[in-house]
This record gives sequence, C-alpha cells and structure tokens, in this order.
Amino acid sequence: MYQEEKPWAPHDLVGCRYRRVQQARHPLTPPSEASQARAQRLVDARAEVFALLPTAPAKGDRRRLVRVDARGDWFATVEALASGANLITDAVLDGHDSGKYWEVHVDVLVRRDDGTYLPVIVNNHRVARPDARKKAQVLHTQRLGLGVPLQVGAKLRRHAADTYAAAMASRALERLGFSCPQAALIGQNRELAYLVDATAIQHSLDSALNAPTPTKAHRVKECASCRFWPFCEEELQTRDDISLMLPGGRSQIYLEEGISSVQQLIDANLGRPSRLAQAWREGVPVLSKVERTHHPRRDVEIDVDVEAYLDQGAYLWGTFDGEQYRPFVTWEGLDDEAEAANFAQFWTWLMGRREAAEGSFGVFCYSAHGENHWLQFSARRFHGKYPGVPSPEEVAAFIASDEWIDVFQQVSAQLEGPFGLGLKVVAPVAGYHWKDDIDGEESVNLYRAGAREVLLDYNADDCKATAAVRRWLDAGAPGVPRM
Ligand code: SF4
Repeated sequence: MYQEEKPWAPHDLVGCRYRRVQQARHPLTPPSEASQARAQRLVDARAEVFALLPTAPAKGDRRRLVRVDARGDWFATVEALASGANLITDAVLDGHDSGKYWEVHVDVLVRRDDGTYLPVIVNNHRVARPDARKKAQVLHTQRLGLGVPLQVGAKLRRHAADTYAAAMASRALERLGFSCPQAALIGQNRELAYLVDATAIQHSLDSALNAPTPTKAHRVKECASCRFWPFCEEELQTRDDISLMLPGGRSQIYLEEGISSVQQLIDANLGRPSRLAQAWREGVPVLSKVERTHHPRRDVEIDVDVEAYLDQGAYLWGTFDGEQYRPFVTWEGLDDEAEAANFAQFWTWLMGRREAAEGSFGVFCYSAHGENHWLQFSARRFHGKYPGVPSPEEVAAFIASDEWIDVFQQVSAQLEGPFGLGLKVVAPVAGYHWKDDIDGEESVNLYRAGAREVLLDYNADDCKATAAVRRWLDAGAPGVPRM
C-alpha cells in the first residue's frame, strides 16, 4: 500500500501528482538524466549566487555581518535564526498543512533591521523582464543584508515551484516568529533578487496543498522525462488507457463520457477521433484529410531554424538553401553585442538572398512561434543599438508577408496524426531521419556543455527535415492513407 514517507517539496506540488505515489512504491528508481542535469544546473546556480553574497560590510560601514551556512540542516537553520545571523545560507524550514508535512530549501535567509528574515530562493528561470511600464523592487545580491531595495522597471514572471517555495518559507518563518511580508527570487540574472509579496501567494500554496493525490497514472507531457515512466507505461498499457493516445487534458472529454480506453474510443464510432484511435493502434503516423496534398514552392527557397538558450537569447540561426547548410552562430555571451551581431549577419544575408533572387523567394520554417518570437524580440532589443539589426516594423512586415511560410500550418491543414504532427513525427514519413535524437531540454544541456558540433548537426537536420517535408507534401505525400 502507498505510504507517504518523504516530506512534500515545492516541486511536488507542480505537474503530475502521481510521481509521489510512484516515488513511495519505487524509492530506489534513480533520477532520469534530465532531472539530474536540472539538479546540477541548480547546484551551479546556487554556487554562483553564494559567491556573490557579501562577506563583510563595505569599508567605513561599521555594521557587523555574520554569515552562517546551515548546510541543509533544519536545526542549524533555527539556531542561526535565534542567534540573529545576518545571512543564513543553505537553510531548511518546514511545516504541516492540509495533512501534509512539507519541507523547503531556502537558499538565503537575510536578516532585516526589524529582526525578521527575508527568504531568498535561487532558481534557473527568468524571474522578471525589463518593462518600463511596470515597477518591481530589487536588492543587489552583493548587498543582501546590507542594502535597501531599489525600484526598477520590470515585470515579474511567475513560476509555480518558485512561488510555492517562497510561500512555504514565508509561512515557516511566520510560525517561528521571524516573518517578513516579502520573499525574494534570484533567477537567471544572479546579481538581482526580485522582491515578491509573500502574503499574496499563500492562497495558491493552500490550493496546491489541498489538491487530491491521484490513484492511477495518466500520461502527461512530463512522462517523457520521468524516471517512473516504465512503471506507469506498463500500468497504462494494461488498462489500454486512453491517455496513451491522448495525453494530458486531451482525453478529458472522452473520460467524461465514460470512454477510458483506446479500444472504447475505436468502438464508439465517433468518426475522426475513432479513426485516429484506429491509426494509433495500427501504428500509422499520418493520414491525409485532402484528395491531394500541396505546398507552396518558390524559385529561391530557404529553410530556417532558430536555437535559443533558455530565454536568455538566440545563439543560432540555421539556414539551408537546398544545397548548403549555413549556420549563423555565436558561442559568446547572449543578450548583448555578440548575439546582436550574429542576428544582424543572419538578417543581412537573408535579405541579400531576397534581393538577389531571380523570380519568387520564400523562407520556410516548421512551426514559426519560436522564430517569430526571436525575430521580433531581437529587433526590439538590438535595433538602433547595433548596426545591421532591422527595426521591429521591418521584421513585422516580413513575418506578415507571403515570403515567410510556416510549413506546420500547411501540414496541419492537410494531414492528421494520432501522434501529433511535430517535425519528428512527419519528417521520417517523408523519408528524412536525424543523426541524433535531441529534445529541447537536452539541447540546453548540450549548449552548457559546449557540444557545438552536435548542436550544429542537429540544427542542420531540422532545417533539412523542414525542406524534405514540404517537398514531400507538394509531391502528394506518397504512401499516406486517406482519413
Ligand atoms: S511517468 Fe508520467 S504519470 Fe507516471 S509518475 Fe511520471 S509524470 Fe506521472
């Protein structure tokens, strides 16, 4: 029988709750590579922040600064709080609510002048974006425990696990008599701690703590990198669970109708959904919705794919002109001159090809959300500051033109697929195969590890796969059965 053993942590309150059940059943299952890499990124982030924290007041400042490392120990944390230390690093606090015992790691506790403590949570998210219309309060990491908050123009971004960690820390401090009305988050910019209202986030913590724990597996996006997938997959297959085919909320409408297995969906004869369920059962990846498929062609065709590191910046604009893969890449710091210069080179080259084109011209990409974001965001950040960067208006005109074509839109208008219509699903049907299979999270790790050749090869494959799919679609998608 499932028994709770480990205290609840903030990340347990986010995403699949069945993980806790599986954790108790299979405690020796090692973490997945993805979660190990995530944990390592957090260890590195904490080390960067700890290295920035003050060790003494500035010259001439007569205050004392006592810094205590609690080394992840609850008793040491409480002792340090009682002693009035100015900075307590690697602290642990706990609590009990809604029948759940929880524990939270607090990277830094900062003593304020009134004797209360500000909890600071370090993470790898972007916790705020510059925004002149919004106001946020920040403390410089180098001045934590010494400085006063400053006001900056920035918009805070919420990440559930960080919010729950801040709310738990604040709640535990309140019970110990050290509460302050704020908490702070240090994200990708290690130099700034953004203040958040700790009272306002208590309600969402209560809702998360009160949510029920599921009694059976339901496939969701995060299953792809979850250590318990082999156990859950077996459980789901035994039930022929509908979430195997329709993960997350996509199966909800059928579950409400009492259809909980793939076979029930096939037998229900609901038309399109039943036909897709049948294709899923038979392993048929794509079906055609039209008599004959087509795709727009141009005299000069360029396929494009962008690679970004988290949301810090776009480091690679890959292009393929049907003969040559040409990457525009920077391995230097992002969000500054190197990224701007790389973007300017890419844009100048692309517009040069357009100028020189004899006949019609087209630029293609597969699902343009990322490319549109980085085109617009690069123009907004760098135009007027660095030479060769187009204006936001110029980029907007290009995106709206018929020279910028989203291959995914063409594919989804003409094909259907029980496994979705991602490039990784459709390109193999069109006869294109990747050298390496890398997902988004892995590409982040590869970027950090400096695996440049692998990233360039992967990006080249994405560009070439896009070209292969549109040509195949225009050739009538040979071999694809009708819906
Ligand atoms: S494999 Fe999926 S359903 Fe199972 S515990 Fe992990 S995330 Fe939850």
